[in-house]
Amino acid sequence: MRGGGCVDTLEGKVVVITGAARGQGAAEAARCAAAGARVVLTDLREDEGGAVAAGLGGGRGLFVRHDVTSAEGWSEVVGRALRAYGRIDALVNNAALWRTAHVERETRENFEELLRVNLIGPFLGIQAVLPALREAGGGSIVNISSTAGLTGIPGHAAYGSTKFALRGLTRSSALDLAPYGIRVNSVHPGAIDTPMVAAVAGKDWSHVPLGRMGHPTEVADLVLFLVSDASSYVTGAEFTVDGGQTAG
Ligand code: NAD
Repeated sequence: MRGGGCVDTLEGKVVVITGAARGQGAAEAARCAAAGARVVLTDLREDEGGAVAAGLGGGRGLFVRHDVTSAEGWSEVVGRALRAYGRIDALVNNAALWRTAHVERETRENFEELLRVNLIGPFLGIQAVLPALREAGGGSIVNISSTAGLTGIPGHAAYGSTKFALRGLTRSSALDLAPYGIRVNSVHPGAIDTPMVAAVAGKDWSHVPLGRMGHPTEVADLVLFLVSDASSYVTGAEFTVDGGQTAG
C-alpha cells in the first residue's frame, strides 16, 4: 500500500522478529500483534520465547528456537513461518550481544562472536526472507543498530563496529532491494531498560536530555511505524530513539 497506511493496521501481515524472547524484541512482538500482525518470534531462549509467543494470544505468535548465526536455522524459520502463516511481510533483525572492553584488552574471539551475531546474523536473515518478501510483493526490513553505531563510545570497539557496519548493510541493502518494493531501515536506540543492560540500569541518566532510560515499548512504537505501510516512502534511513542523547 502507498502512504495513508495506518500505523495500527498490520492486519494480514506476518512479521519475523529475532531475539524476541525478552527486552525490545518481546515489546516489538506485542506491539505488532496488537496492531493485527501474526508474529514469528525467534531466540535462543526457548522457555521465555515460547511464553512471549503464547502471551500474544489468538494464534498470533509462533516461537521458533533459532540461532541467528546459522543459515540452516534461518531456513527453518522461514519454512515454519510459511507453513504456519503462508507469507512473510517484514523482518526485524533485533537479536544481538552487548559486551564492552577497552580496545587494548578486546579479544579477537569476542570481536568475531559479536560480528557473527550482530552483523552476519542480520545479513543471513535478509537473504533468507528475501524470496518470501518478493513473493509478497514487497516488504520491510528493520535492523536494530544502536547509538553506538552512530558515534564512538569508550569500550565499544567490538560492539560499536558491528552496529556501524549494520548501518552500511542497511543502506546498501535498501538500494539493492528498492526495485522489489522492499524497504530497509535502521533503528538506533540509546539506553533502553532491558535485561541486556541490567547492570547499568540503576545509574544516573541525567546526562540524557529526557533524563531517563527508554522503555522497550518506546522502541517498539518506532519499529511498528517502520514495519507498517505508514512508512511506505521511507527506506535507507536511520532513526534514533535515544531521549536526545546524540542530538548535541
Ligand atoms: P536483550 O539482551 O534483552 O535481548 C536480546 C535477545 O537476543 C535475547 O533474548 C537473546 O537471547 C537474543 N539473542 C542473542 N544472541 C542470539 C542469537 N545468536 N540468536 C538468536 N537470538 C539471540 O537485548 P535488548 O536490549 O532487547 O536489545 C535488542 C536490540 O537493541 C539489540 O540489537 C541491541 O544491540 C539493541 N540495543 C539495545 C540497547 C539497550 O540499551 N538495551 C541500546 C542500543 C541498542
